Order: sequence, then structure tokens, then C-alpha cells
Amino acid sequence: MAQQQNHIFYKWGGGVEPDLPRVDHATDEFLVTESGEELVDAAAGAAVTNLGHSVPGIEQIFESQSADVSYLSLSHFSHDAPEQLARTLASRSPGDLEKVFFTNSGSEANEAAFKLAREYFRARGKTEKSVVVSRWQSYHGATFGALSATGNTLRRRGFEPYLTDWEHISPAYPYRWSFDGTDEEQARAAARELETTIRQRGPETVAAFVAEPVGGASIPAAAPHPAYYEEIRAICDEYDVLFIADEVMTGFGRTGPLFAMERYGVTPDMMTLGKGLTGGYTPMSAVLVSDAVADEFARDDVSFAHGHTFAGNPLSAAVANFVVEQYTDGVLERGRARGAQLASELDALRDHPMVGDFRAVGPMVGLEFVADRASKAPFDPELKVYEQVYDAALDRGVYTYPGRGSVDGVAGDHLMLAPPLTLSKASVSRIATAVEAAVEAVYDRVSRATTA
Ligand code: PMP
Repeated sequence: MAQQQNHIFYKWGGGVEPDLPRVDHATDEFLVTESGEELVDAAAGAAVTNLGHSVPGIEQIFESQSADVSYLSLSHFSHDAPEQLARTLASRSPGDLEKVFFTNSGSEANEAAFKLAREYFRARGKTEKSVVVSRWQSYHGATFGALSATGNTLRRRGFEPYLTDWEHISPAYPYRWSFDGTDEEQARAAARELETTIRQRGPETVAAFVAEPVGGASIPAAAPHPAYYEEIRAICDEYDVLFIADEVMTGFGRTGPLFAMERYGVTPDMMTLGKGLTGGYTPMSAVLVSDAVADEFARDDVSFAHGHTFAGNPLSAAVANFVVEQYTDGVLERGRARGAQLASELDALRDHPMVGDFRAVGPMVGLEFVADRASKAPFDPELKVYEQVYDAALDRGVYTYPGRGSVDGVAGDHLMLAPPLTLSKASVSRIATAVEAAVEAVYDRVSRATTA
């Protein structure tokens, strides 16, 4: 049969895009290609399918909700499915995050949170407060506002000028911190950069600080000492700045508990969610808003004129209700156990000459590749080490989530493993075996290339 032209516009990397494997179907943690190859999904899609594929009972949800009503404009009607979802998210989230604003993607959730922050301060007469502070080597989304907050230089490059000249502080990245003292002292020093930035910019201009509680796409599984968020919370309170936790990737069990902020016992003013919220079955995201923030919007003269056509639609909400119910204590525990097994089976890589940092937090593992362990020097970007490791793992039947934190030489190539929480022990072993062999194969190749 003649090859049909592919009309999907996709151009992430340079050169001619490779032919992507075509998936025929997927079950649990397995993707089966049209040529019949079974791949273990060690990335849960993009840290999305936290429950794997073919979750029993999901078809009935689609069927009954679409037979009932699939779409409504939430500006004009309400419905049980989004109402129930908002109730559940309010009850399962930390602290007083009691109100839920629905959106469709992680980027949109962050955009909405930034605009909510501005309106909140406007309502309080602090009209100058508009700046969002974030961290370098972060990812908050691809749309222009979210990209302005994003600190991953690879994802920012080429899209200048950004919408705003927002501020960035050092990432929460213990491996590459150059602060002195104990882990706790270093964490406090890193967090205090927020205070310096707020003071330099002028507290009257700063509306919010946004951060991924544990590193994701840019510095996978980088988790600072708890003192970091204790300090961040105190600084935000002191300078009347809202703390937005971007839990788009870390939410729904990815780092062990349901939400990563639970690891730190700190409640943000807003929390953005996406990805695992529907486990990948439909697009949906949300901003959880604290009572204190939401209360400002209760007045007659305050509005939030912002919304998206598909936000909170009953079909996605019904799916999310079903999916969120599956994140039981047992499933979260299983995710933690599988994460621990994965970290332990990859143990040999901790001392590997190419692995500078080995990070593991719940069912999330981050390997950072360096050319030199002593100096922590990253590989030459031209070598595309992350792509090589990805290809080598895929050749061994395992799909992983690779990346590069920056193009500026301050962070290296990395590999993230973020499998479904529900995968089997046997699949964990398949992932560990393939990843170890892939790292070994790439190491052989790059050390030969660099010594040639
Ligand atoms: N925030 C974080 C922490 C993310 O990991 C991502 C996606 N990788 C986003 C925001 C953007 O989400 P989306 O791609 O759904 O817009």
C-alpha cells in the first residue's frame, strides 16, 4: 500500500522528523504498535496515564455521560459532574483550597492562575501587583503567559520577546546548588532568592510565585529539603505574594502522595492540576483556589472575565470523577512501592560514570547525565545524549521521557521515568533492565566519540 502523506504538523527537533512508531492499541502499561511490538510505557505518556490504559469501567462512563449530556457551557448552566468533581478536589486537596476553576490543559491552568492573581490584587486595590516570579529550568506551559514563567531555556528559545519581563530565581536543584552549609541551610538560601527578587523588583509589583513542588520536565525528581517551601511560604506571606504550586505533573500520585505539596506540609494559595486528573482519557485541568483568594471575588464589583469553551464540560468531568476515585490509598501505595523497586533495580546506575545525579521520588526517577562527574559538566548538546538514551531504551522495548533542562550549559541531559502507578513488578524489571543497558550502550558510544 502506498504510504499516505501525514498532515499532522509536528516539528519538535531539527532535521527531518523520524517516522514515529504508530500505536495500534494500549492496555495497562503497554503500547502495542501496528507492527505488533509491545513497548512498556515508562513515561505514562507524558506523566499522564497514571492508571495505565484500559482502566476497567471507563467505557461505561463515556457511554452514559455522552448519552446524558456531553457538553454544556459552564457560564450558563451547571451540572452534577463538574460540581461533584470540584467537591472531590476541594476535599482531597490540602488546606483551604476549596474552590475550583476548570480549564483544559496545564498551560491554561497556569494562565488562569496568573490572571486570578492579578484580579485578586486589583480587587484589594493593589493594582500594581502583576509580576509572576518563577524559577529557571522550570516548565509551566507553552502558551505565551505560561512560557514567560517557564525557565527551561530550550523551550523558551526562539519565542522571544516574551509577553512580560517576569523574574526567575535559581531552580530548586540541590545537585547544582553552590550554597554553603547543610541541606537545610542550602534550601533556605535558595528560597531566600525569592525575597531578594521581590525586594529588588518592588513588593508592590509582585503578585505571585509559581513553582513545580518537585522538578518535572526540566529537572525530573529534583526535590528540595522541606525547609525550602517553609521559607517560600513565609516569604510569600511577608510580602503579600500568592504562592502557586504547579502540580500539573506532580499531582495524582506522581511523587508518592496524591499531591506533592503534601510531602512538604505547606499549603499554597493556588494549585494547578492537569495530566493525571483524567488519566489521559480526556483533556481537562483545573486551578484550585484558596478560600482567602476566592472570597475577594465574592463582591459585586469584582469579576473574573476569563474562561474557555470546553472548560468543565460534563464528559471530561465525569471521566475525571471516575479517574480521581481510582487514586485510592492502595493505588498510591502501589505507586510508591513500584517507584522504590525501580530505584532499587537501577541502583547500579548511581555510580555510573555518565550519571551525575540519581534522583528518585515516589514513582518518578530522574537520571542526569554528565560528561564529567567531578565537575558536573554537561555533555556537548550536539551529542544529543538524551535522544540517544531514549532511542536505545526504545530499541529495548521501553518508552521513556527524556529531556534537556537548558541550552546554556548549566544543566545536562536527563531521563525521566514516570510509569503508571499501577504497573506490574515484572514491568518495573523490564524498564530497569532496558534503561541500564541503554545507558551503558550510549556511554560506550559517547566515550568512544569523545576520546577518538
Ligand atoms: N506545568 C507542568 C509542571 C508541566 O509538566 C506541564 C506539561 N509537561 C505543563 C504545565 C503544561 O501542561 P500542558 O502541556 O497540558 O499545557
